[in-house]
Amino acid sequence: MSRFGDFPKQINVPIPTDETGMVGRECPNAECEGYFKLQPGTGLTGDDLDCVCPYCGHRGKPDQFWTKEQIEYAKSYTPNMPTLLRPVFDAVWNAAGWERSFNYDENGKWTRRD
Ligand SMILES: [Zn+2]
Repeated sequence: MSRFGDFPKQINVPIPTDETGMVGRECPNAECEGYFKLQPGTGLTGDDLDCVCPYCGHRGKPDQFWTKEQIEYAKSYTPNMPTLLRPVFDAVWNAAGWERSFNYDENGKWTRRD
């Protein structure tokens, strides 16, 4: 187990919802590409829940139903690097005998020290 075991291997991009809290989805079936909206967190749980297109019945993994706009948004998304790298800094400081990196305040906010 590496000291960097907590380092995030993927970045979660927050996908914006519309004014009613719905998230747009697009059918990945090239002959359909139907657009529909879902309300996230409707109570369905499980790791392998399929998403089903209401137009053509195409069934697939939820991450196949992103709209083209959402994919472009995710590609352009810039994560907050200090927040993303905090586990790495904590591990480095920890290896040096400190409890955690003191470049972060008690709320986990990056505080640059001169
Ligand atoms: Zn479809």
